[in-house]
Amino acid sequence: MKAVPKPIVDYSLPVVALVGRPNVGKSTMFNRLTSSHFAIVEDQPGVTRDRRYGNCEYDGRQFRVVDTGGIDFTAEGSIAVGMRRQAEMAIAEADVVLLIVDGQHGLLPDDREIFVKLRRAGKKILLVANKIDGPRHESHVNDMYELGCREIFGVSAAHGRGMPDLLDAILLALPVEEEEAQHVEPPLADFEHDDTALSEDALAAIEQAESAHEEDDGPGDEGPDTVSEADLSKDVIRIALVGRPNAGKSSLVNTLCGEERMLVDSTPGTTRDPIDTPILHGGQRFSLIDTAGIRRRVRVHEPSDRIAMTMAERAIERADVAVLVIDASEGIGEMDARIAGLVADAGRVLLIALNKRDLVPAARMKEIEAELDRKLQFVPWAHRMWCSAHTQKGVLKILDEATRCYRSFASRVKTSALNRFFAGIVEKHPPPLFQGKPIRLYYITQAQTRPPTFVVSVNYTEGMHFSYRRYLQNQLRETFGFVGTPIRLLARAKTK
Ligand code: GDP
Ligand code: GDP
Repeated sequence: MKAVPKPIVDYSLPVVALVGRPNVGKSTMFNRLTSSHFAIVEDQPGVTRDRRYGNCEYDGRQFRVVDTGGIDFTAEGSIAVGMRRQAEMAIAEADVVLLIVDGQHGLLPDDREIFVKLRRAGKKILLVANKIDGPRHESHVNDMYELGCREIFGVSAAHGRGMPDLLDAILLALPVEEEEAQHVEPPLADFEHDDTALSEDALAAIEQAESAHEEDDGPGDEGPDTVSEADLSKDVIRIALVGRPNAGKSSLVNTLCGEERMLVDSTPGTTRDPIDTPILHGGQRFSLIDTAGIRRRVRVHEPSDRIAMTMAERAIERADVAVLVIDASEGIGEMDARIAGLVADAGRVLLIALNKRDLVPAARMKEIEAELDRKLQFVPWAHRMWCSAHTQKGVLKILDEATRCYRSFASRVKTSALNRFFAGIVEKHPPPLFQGKPIRLYYITQAQTRPPTFVVSVNYTEGMHFSYRRYLQNQLRETFGFVGTPIRLLARAKTK
């Protein structure tokens, strides 16, 4: 038998890391990705025992695959600790991380936590639900959209099902090669809106809050404690209607752009962009994003899901408020959840318009709302309303509701009120210990608006558990009456 020459390891190749709990199928995935004739598994000295490297070549591109899963969990103490180490390795060296979960089991708290950690580190994550061996397992995948990623890859590493889509996505997510750099589609399942991406202004605000805190009394602001009632009526609220093809977007746009509301002037502040449409309702100015695009689309052809997602994404990017239009007579689909995820990810107001109410018998309405609760449980803060572009009932309420939610979106809470709130919370419900050590929360500040973004100063940022963050967010929402807007909460290590 002829010996196969051993290829040289190319360290300049991009790295794709496999991360996940034990038994989710990391080594099966590793073998699948590296099983081409090209594959090599490095066994030379210097490669640590808890990593395995191999090469993969697909569609003319090569990348290295690292299986970080060789960590001995019993020696490490716990799965959580082991996964944290895997994540750290992946963060250190990977260009793309495949977070592999057991698609037959659904998400576990460890999966969620690792997801949040990777995302916070700004890593490109592809969420892979493995063990989807056949159509009967596919429904499990839909439940995972609660994490808010735009795409989940249901695959079977053992049988190869779903691998081409995953490989396509990996190639899209890899760093761009020189010659490709001219034009690339934005990578799918990439989290560009990582919540650590704070503006310069926001960072300056935090610094200021930090020094104010040192002096032990916050900026002296008087007035009402609740969300500030700044005069936002001069703002132009940018609204994007997004949703599946045929949900009724262009019909709604036509109603919203009724003659009595159309603005023909070009007052400063109203958009001049010919693809957007300025309108006026209840004394408030709005700009309907990409109206031309929405109208054109119906006449040409129906876009594929992927194109529809990209268009939605672009519109969301430019909007303050995203109205997710759903054809309620069809129920809530997976794509609706994915679009909702995009909106949450981008940190925009999400309004859910359950359209075609005229086609839904009254007795079905409750069921549809329950389905919505279930499938969009990751955006419990989103407001919903029923409407019908056909009868025009409820359509203008979209604008009223957008105005209301926008106020929360753009509001700032007084520092003094925030500090009082925080002292109460910390006393009433302190965070759980982190590795046996107490978590100290020093102070909180609102660093940004649109969406409201709060920064908590803490001794160990890793100690701010997901569930405690969620708790703080809910308390902020309740106490200060934020409606319809996502709230971001960042933990920041206290600087000396
Ligand atoms: P690791 O601990 O994450 O590296 O997981 P392994 O690759 O060792 O797989 C754990 C178990 O899951 C093994 O029994 C595999 O045969 C099984 N497994 C892996 N991939 C699949 C799959 O796609 N479908 C099914 N049904 N089982 C799988
Ligand atoms: P788009 O692809 O989301 O822009 O959807 P369209 O606005 O083109 O609507 C798709 C189809 O649904 C068209 O035939 C519309 O007439 C119909 N439609 C839209 N809204 C309603 C509604 O509220 N009730 C009913 N019965 N049909 C509607």
